[in-house]
Amino acid sequence: MSQAVYIHIPFCNEICHYCDFAKVYYRNQKRDAYLQALEREIALTLSECPILGEIKTIYFGGGTPTALSIEELKQLFCIVNQYFRPFFAPDIEITVEANPDSLTIEKLTFLYEQGVNRLSIGVQTFSDIHLAKMGRTHTKSQVEYVIEQSKNIGFRNINVDFIYGVPNQTHQEVMDDIEQFLQLDVQHISTYALIIEPHTKFFIQQNKGQLIETADDIEADMYMAINEALLAAGYEQYELSNFAKPGCASKHNLTYWQNLPYYGFGLGAHGYLNNVRYANTKAITNYVKTLSGNERPLVENHKLTREEQIEETIFLGLRTRIGVNKQQFTQRFGVSLLDIYGETIAKHVQKGWIIETDESIVLAKDTLFIANQIMSDYLL
Ligand code: SF4
Repeated sequence: MSQAVYIHIPFCNEICHYCDFAKVYYRNQKRDAYLQALEREIALTLSECPILGEIKTIYFGGGTPTALSIEELKQLFCIVNQYFRPFFAPDIEITVEANPDSLTIEKLTFLYEQGVNRLSIGVQTFSDIHLAKMGRTHTKSQVEYVIEQSKNIGFRNINVDFIYGVPNQTHQEVMDDIEQFLQLDVQHISTYALIIEPHTKFFIQQNKGQLIETADDIEADMYMAINEALLAAGYEQYELSNFAKPGCASKHNLTYWQNLPYYGFGLGAHGYLNNVRYANTKAITNYVKTLSGNERPLVENHKLTREEQIEETIFLGLRTRIGVNKQQFTQRFGVSLLDIYGETIAKHVQKGWIIETDESIVLAKDTLFIANQIMSDYLL
């Protein structure tokens, strides 16, 4: 039974130089056709996997959902209200991702009136120089303005996405960014080390020798310093890359990390229903065309084996500060965590990588940069 919904809106006004998400330019796209296809996908999926309880979280990601015009946003919420609103939990968390330069007062007000109660704003850095280098189209002053306006309208749960390890970015610049972030006084920050992905402008520049990726040890130092500064300022690290004021962890993202089911709709979206992980096509023409024939636009549809479910529960759970709960694990899989992984856990505890209590196992602090190595020991 899924209680979480992800909806992907792939349109962006400009394409950032590091981005490998499923996205297309806003201009020249048939947004109407996309929204109609989205509605068809929702209807088809719900006919196969109906909603059986309350919907506790909805997350509009992208792309840039707020690149849509106000009329298009109204169309989008018309769909959401038709299919999901009757199932909304009273304390539902509804998040919309946004870029500072696409958030107008009119859009903010509309979203707030629709019940959106969490904004996730792509800030990335406060350096206008690095923003321009990354192909971002906003400025530091736009960030400050938009966050102030969001608070004035009534938003009380705001996340800021933040990138470090931008080529040529210094340690001091990262710390200045964190200092400026703290002045925003928002509830949540997601921090990501910049990765140069294939098929991006940064990748091409790197291959031409025009750009040098930040070294791992420099990024590790940045990560440690960011952690220290955020913890000292009263944020709790509830996942390797995510920090929140007490009580403000993202309920939606915790669905992923607790390995719980969720609906995924839209271009390139992933979902997890009835132990099946699925992914939609990333090609917008195929997406619209397949749905116009009343077929779901799936490019992956994999029923997880029991072993895969166990492995994923460990990998995802270890990313969080609450870790993997022993009792829940036994309830879910009918066998204890220690029966399967007793030796591995003992070895990792001895190395100082894992902290084991009566209730759970948790990754030790400062292990982000060896987390993959640690987790590979839990493959069955
Ligand atoms: S705004 Fe987000 S989705 Fe769009 S190109 Fe930039 S990083 Fe990618």
